[in-house]
Amino acid sequence: TNSIYTGMPTTIFEVMSQLARESGSINLGQGFPDVDGPLDIRQKAADELISGYNQYPPMMGLPVLRQAVADANKRFYDLDIDPANEVVVTSGATEAISDCLTALIEEGDEVILIEPLYDCYLPLAKRAGATVKSIRIVPPKWQIDRAELEAVFSDRTKLIVLNDPHNPAGKVYSDEEKGWIAELLEKYDAYAVCDEVYEHITFDGLPHKPLMAFDGMRERCLRIGSAGKTFSLTGWKIGYITGSKELLDPVAKAHQFSTFTTAPNLQEAIALGLNKDNSYYEELSSDLQSKRDRLAAGLRDVGFEVIDSQGSYFLTTDVTDLCAKKGLPLDDAAFCQTITEQAGVTAVPVSAFYIEDENHAAAPKQFVRFCFCKKESVLDEAIQRLKNWA
Ligand code: PMP
Ligand code: GLN
Repeated sequence: TNSIYTGMPTTIFEVMSQLARESGSINLGQGFPDVDGPLDIRQKAADELISGYNQYPPMMGLPVLRQAVADANKRFYDLDIDPANEVVVTSGATEAISDCLTALIEEGDEVILIEPLYDCYLPLAKRAGATVKSIRIVPPKWQIDRAELEAVFSDRTKLIVLNDPHNPAGKVYSDEEKGWIAELLEKYDAYAVCDEVYEHITFDGLPHKPLMAFDGMRERCLRIGSAGKTFSLTGWKIGYITGSKELLDPVAKAHQFSTFTTAPNLQEAIALGLNKDNSYYEELSSDLQSKRDRLAAGLRDVGFEVIDSQGSYFLTTDVTDLCAKKGLPLDDAAFCQTITEQAGVTAVPVSAFYIEDENHAAAPKQFVRFCFCKKESVLDEAIQRLKNWA
């Protein structure tokens, strides 16, 4: 009989959200806000839906959105992007990541991933024929070890996937770390797929500086953004990739045979969103920063060891002490199941963000990720439930 490929796992986000729906628990697992993004953006999408254009937009994306993406790159990072040739609009960052990996990887190429890793990188890289090399970053600083990084580069390295700010670690890579990556990409003539969906969600005044803005990196990076994260509209699935024409051309070809294009009314509306003035972006991060602080303080009260988060929607916690206190085995997946059932709060086990095979050390089992982009009342109720349980 013909064999059927079974290498694709079920994403942990769907597993945990399904569990939360079934049990009616508060879902602090999958990362999505519980308040929709700006009304004017949604109104624009509705207006365009009724009186705008509803047929196939151009394959690269509507010109108005590509221009807005280019303008945002100039405003925030001083990057000069040609909207006609250097921007592709995709159906979410997920499609963008898939397009980049499908386009660039050839059988036998080496791809470098950093663990913990956002869950789609590994199955997509493997399916594209890559040999995956990885390094790990560990809390509390989640700092890259330069020697370890250098050791995974080789003449067969095609690309590194860099998620900055990082999900689930909440880490913003330092200029020093990005400098090391830049140096190695030049030395080995390799590329970077930069997943920057949390580019506007950094805290405590920490700026986001894309790898693409480092010396020599303009031609080596594909930079991915997501309107879902930037405008709290995760269900819309609008993403965008910027990169040099040479690097983006094959990616656009992967996009044309994947989705070809994405809904025109949503593209119009996101163009309006990207053009919002700086105060919108400042409010987005300051609002999320205060939610981060609220959840962090509450979780510490419950007995979680909370690791600092510099950006993203997430806090990672160490549950070693809490498991000891409750007489539970130190197993993040079992822990997430237990608090869903017993406390009515759902989180995500961080072991799901590690590579599980014979070439890799076992994943750590003491880390649990909580999402804080929720209403204050919801965060408070989740904390209260966890306190009652602990
Ligand atoms: N990359 C990272 C790091 C993410 O956290 C997410 C989802 N939140 C995505 C990509 C996917 O983004 P999108 O919903 O735009 O596909
Ligand atoms: N990125 C979201 C998270 O990390 C989930 C997105 C998804 O479910 N595909 O929770």
